[in-house]
Amino acid sequence: MERTPTIDPTTDHESRLLALSPGLLAAAGFDGRLAVLNPGWSRTVGRPSEELVGCSLFDLVHPEDADPVRRMLERLKAGGEVSGHVCRLLRADGSERTVVFGGQGSAGDACVYLAGEDVSESRRLEDELARRAEGLERVNNDLQEFAYIASHDLAEPLRMVTSYLELLERRYAGQLDETAREFIGFAVGGAHRMRTLIDDLLTYSRVGSHELERGPVDLADLLGNVLLGLQRAIAEAGAQVSAPGTLAAVKGDATQVGQLLQNLIANAVKFRAPGRAPVVTVTSVPDGDGVRVSVTDNGIGIDPAHRDRIFKMFARLHGRDEYEGTGIGLAVCRRITDRHGGRIWAESAVAGSDCGADAGSTFHAWFPGRP
Ligand code: ADP
Repeated sequence: MERTPTIDPTTDHESRLLALSPGLLAAAGFDGRLAVLNPGWSRTVGRPSEELVGCSLFDLVHPEDADPVRRMLERLKAGGEVSGHVCRLLRADGSERTVVFGGQGSAGDACVYLAGEDVSESRRLEDELARRAEGLERVNNDLQEFAYIASHDLAEPLRMVTSYLELLERRYAGQLDETAREFIGFAVGGAHRMRTLIDDLLTYSRVGSHELERGPVDLADLLGNVLLGLQRAIAEAGAQVSAPGTLAAVKGDATQVGQLLQNLIANAVKFRAPGRAPVVTVTSVPDGDGVRVSVTDNGIGIDPAHRDRIFKMFARLHGRDEYEGTGIGLAVCRRITDRHGGRIWAESAVAGSDCGADAGSTFHAWFPGRP
């Protein structure tokens, strides 16, 4: 058995321990007169300890907090215990410190024991953080509104440009030479791309503004609907999309989880390797205290150096002449997982790299909670 170490009994260990404590420890009379206190008091109120002994707690407490402190002392006198009592102490220089007190009354000794913790700094940081979060939310809302209005208002003049260009093409086709028709074609193509960009921006902004309705999302059902929407792209690419195992349900907003699945599968089909029909697999498995949904393809893969960048707005690794797109799809996916308190990441290697010709990519989206 281990023996208690022998220490010098003549040393006043208690006082040393009290002096070391970062808190405010004191024994006071029922009237709040401080009888014994540790140096924590002196540090907190900025006065020498000698000045504080015998002084009343009410000389130190902010006048607005005096009544609650009086009630606290009464409770302690009646033999009760107190915890989490917040009050402000005034420093010698007039500034304030916020202290949380706990205490115990001792009827036999006609005194109360108080233990306080100066929480001024943590409160200040909390307030500062709350203020910043509020500011961020305001900026975010403004941006949200701006994105929505801008994309909404841009759609109208764009519709006008497109329809007049198409009219010109139809009505004057016979009078125009080959070059003029080609120019009109470029302009119509540009207007269509701009329309897609506006639609994608609107989707992105809606993901942020839409009120989340979290419920159990049956992924098998959802996948069926998503595949229906992607029918044409899947058929044109000769793709095979399947979910070989049981799909675990996700706790989330069905519309947004569906949007995420749609973007990931659409990409898996789009970024196919030349001469290889896309094979896409969807899985959903419990992972920690959440569920991980994954979409794997056998496509062109992603250079590991860009695996994080692709989730940023407008980030694309290929030109439009190679693969169509706006670079918003994965930013939408990340916004969806962010809003759910989850995360999204990609695993991949470039086809033809060390990992072999069939590298492909896997995108994982993790959602917290189990339905
Ligand atoms: P878009 O598809 O409109 O280009 P995304 O935001 O969906 O925009 O994707 C960003 C970029 O990430 C793509 O341009 C592409 O370079 C890369 N990427 C996304 N999905 C895949 C995938 N399954 N395989 C290979 N590269 C991909």
